[in-house]
Amino acid sequence: MLKRVLVSGGAGFLGSHLCDRLVEAGHEVLCLDNFFTSQKSNITHLLDRPNFEFIRHDVTEPITLEVDEIFNLACPAAPGHYQYNPIKTIKTSVLGSIHMLGIAKRVGARILHASTSEVYGDPTVHPQTEDYRGNVNPIGPRACYDEGKRAAETLMFDYHRQNKVDIKVIRIFNTYGPRMHPFDGRVVSNFIRQALQNETISLYGDGSQTRSFCFVSDLIDGMLAMMNSEDGFTGPVNIGNPHEFTIKELADAVVRLSGSSSDIQTTRALPEDDPLQRRPDISLAKKVLDWEPKVQLNEGLEKTIEFFRSIDLAEYRAPTPNY
Ligand code: NAD
Ligand code: UDP
Repeated sequence: MLKRVLVSGGAGFLGSHLCDRLVEAGHEVLCLDNFFTSQKSNITHLLDRPNFEFIRHDVTEPITLEVDEIFNLACPAAPGHYQYNPIKTIKTSVLGSIHMLGIAKRVGARILHASTSEVYGDPTVHPQTEDYRGNVNPIGPRACYDEGKRAAETLMFDYHRQNKVDIKVIRIFNTYGPRMHPFDGRVVSNFIRQALQNETISLYGDGSQTRSFCFVSDLIDGMLAMMNSEDGFTGPVNIGNPHEFTIKELADAVVRLSGSSSDIQTTRALPEDDPLQRRPDISLAKKVLDWEPKVQLNEGLEKTIEFFRSIDLAEYRAPTPNY
């Protein structure tokens, strides 16, 4: 059935891929964004599609819209971006979610919230299952994001219990792919940008910390499977790739696959509160959504490197100085 779908944060890395898929499926797509960490070029190819509309708006301000479904993605996601203006980050998560939930409540729309593995903080349980309550420092430099996202989950479940809002909550683990902002400071974009320019690859700490990297097409499959899942399944559900790599292994892979002559060096100490290990347990997503990732790291990195080769860095404005 064709639907009117609102994607907040729709011009961003994940949001723009989601809009592509929704437009292709024929839905009427409202993409809402303030371009804080993205730019128009992510969605230019959609602007002349009859079933796509762009609304420039900041989610910390209320807005009235009539839709059938909402994807709540608006929020800076890269550590350098969300730490740039931490008060604005937590406002975006909390006020943004309240405003999107307000629309969902008023018009009876289903809402999917893009939560994060950061709700687990620096985890003491490994791999992370959805029932793990996390180890977040509430007063550290990552708290504006982690606690904002935790509060947004609380809001989702309170609107669900109090107002019967139809909610779907996914916890996204590190995702990468084409259209990552080349100056977002995230590890994959930094390493590929540096490798293609034969610059030193910037390891933070000794590179023994781990992450699990999910390719964007797999992530969008999981997100859509959750939005279309059976009535009453609220989540939270982990969406990510369960293969775990050290950051040093990632650096080696990027250098090898890009044919770079870069050296790999520790350029700064591990940032404060940087999680030491992270890997999703995706048993719940497999069971309920029949979803698991298909694209493994080498293949996804090749596609991402190809994208970075195809862009002109001079056409990108760094959203913040932190990259
Ligand atoms: P992104 O920065 O590319 O996208 C976020 C989008 O939200 C951007 O287009 C930005 O301009 C917009 N935005 C930010 N503040 C806004 C505001 N106040 N009003 C309106 N728009 C605003 O990041 P992304 O990787 O695409 O992440 C999308 C969502 O997924 C975020 O909510 C993020 O927390 C979540 N997530 C992403 C990852 C990942 O690895 N990519 C992991 C966990 C969670
Ligand atoms: N990192 C790194 N070099 C960089 C950027 C990041 O070694 O140039 C490390 C960072 O310290 C963290 C991991 O890579 O341990 C992932 O960082 P990212 O900012 O991509 O996302 P996070 O998972 O921490 O939110």
